[in-house]
Amino acid sequence: MPAIEFNRYYRHDDLTKLVKGFAKEFPKLVTVEAIGKSHEGRKILLVAVTNSRTGAAKDKPAFWCDGNIHASEVSASAAVLYILNKLITSYGQDATITRALDTRAFYLVPRVNPDGAEWALADVPKIIRSGTRPYPYEEDDFYGLERLDVDGDGRILSMRIKDPNGPWKVSEEEPRLMDRRDPAESGGEYYRLLPEGIYHNYDGLTVRSQRTKEGLDFNRNFPSGWRLESDQHGAGPFPTSELEIHALVDAISKRPNICGAVTFHTFSGVHLRPPSTRPDDDIPAEDLWNYQKIGEKGKEMTGYPAISNYHEFRYHPKEVITGVFDDWMYEHRGVFAWTTEIWSPQRQAGITDYKYIDWFRDHPFEHDKMLLKWSDEKLGGKGHIDWYEYDHPQFGMIQLGGWDPQYAFRNPPPDYLEAEIAPFADWVIWQALISPKLEIFKIEAKKIGGSTIIRFAVDNTGWLPSYVTKVGKDKKLCRGVVGEIEVPKGVKVESGLLRQEGPQLEGRSEVSSGGFGWQFNGTDHRHVFEWTLKGSGTVKLSAYHDRAGRITEEVRV
Ligand SMILES: [Zn+2]
Repeated sequence: MPAIEFNRYYRHDDLTKLVKGFAKEFPKLVTVEAIGKSHEGRKILLVAVTNSRTGAAKDKPAFWCDGNIHASEVSASAAVLYILNKLITSYGQDATITRALDTRAFYLVPRVNPDGAEWALADVPKIIRSGTRPYPYEEDDFYGLERLDVDGDGRILSMRIKDPNGPWKVSEEEPRLMDRRDPAESGGEYYRLLPEGIYHNYDGLTVRSQRTKEGLDFNRNFPSGWRLESDQHGAGPFPTSELEIHALVDAISKRPNICGAVTFHTFSGVHLRPPSTRPDDDIPAEDLWNYQKIGEKGKEMTGYPAISNYHEFRYHPKEVITGVFDDWMYEHRGVFAWTTEIWSPQRQAGITDYKYIDWFRDHPFEHDKMLLKWSDEKLGGKGHIDWYEYDHPQFGMIQLGGWDPQYAFRNPPPDYLEAEIAPFADWVIWQALISPKLEIFKIEAKKIGGSTIIRFAVDNTGWLPSYVTKVGKDKKLCRGVVGEIEVPKGVKVESGLLRQEGPQLEGRSEVSSGGFGWQFNGTDHRHVFEWTLKGSGTVKLSAYHDRAGRITEEVRV
């Protein structure tokens, strides 16, 4: 199997080979299956990682990671591959990872959107938001600017075009950078900036953007809060209308043991959490507290702040986005899910105190200079390209240059990739280890007269409760713990149902700090199943919970 590298981005065929190579080399730890096909027929692969000797993935609490739902966000695939590689190569070496794979499972989908990623990674790339299926219309727009690599150098930069009424000028302070024209200024040399591309049916006077034929946004196509195209662009004709999203929703719904998730995106250098549509006050306080605790750990382990979609990451202060993965996971599946936006060019350049979305609307020119310095010194000048002449087929002699959005902003430049994505693995493993976990506490078999009383005590040994979130409990998204007994011929069950549904089991997440005198740690993380048996033989006891896993034990009576 070829060694996996984290200073490059993989095309889908190579990624598929790598993943299948892992399964072949580590059959006891890795299984791969296709959960569906993309619009163009590429397989969407789900990799299950666990120590199969201690139980199958479906019988253990599991953690979900996916990446690259958005076409150009290719470092998200790398982040998931990194986690896969780390789990496998550290098993048996690192005590925490060994315990994680012995007691938990990981479901990893490195590339949700292979079609869009193939376009982004092509030698002459084309950047779209999500998949390649035309939406909402089949036909091309005859008019407007189509964003593409017009000079075929593998980059999609900016075009600067002279216009006496343009909003930009060459900065006096730093002539390589463009600066906004002052509000009252006139009489200078001004420019318009446009993304690199070709113009269809140019009338010589007006410029507009071409309607993107590939107008879907997969991360608006999830069932929770889904809205029509008229309300939200790219959401698709109905929830899970897109093959890729249907594959995810179906795969997750068939795996009730998933207790948490991270979906990797780019960029901003932040962990985002639900709810996206309402304030934190509107969700159960217990869920908010746990979300905050998991987020604090994320910040500690990865350096990325953890924030609310609704309060701190809105594209417009009066608008919300809906039908997204993390909301669906929290609202409909009842688990803690995160959207990790990989990479912050600002932080790399030393700009530490900035607001993610607002910064793009307005920030000091000083920050642009810091970014330029970073590009020069750290990226070998590859982040910002000095303007060069180009004879454009529609606009004539113009200049190309400026920031390279794909590998300075949207994704880490390959040399920076590994350092950026490495810390996520630790946080993901930590999150897997806080999930509820069913374990046997004690089995008692007591002879009384001619009968045997079996008491089968099971614990949730995880930090989170068995239902994971209050939403999960209130919406009855999982059953209580179930206990079963199987008896051989010669043993009769005198009392106790063969299958019993017990309560939800609490975890330790609600234990308050400070062991003051009123701390009362009862056994609400434990349930005792009881049967009275007659006769002798080997009986099989099992207990299972949708999320916390399955355990079995045999007892001679
Ligand atoms: Zn994204």
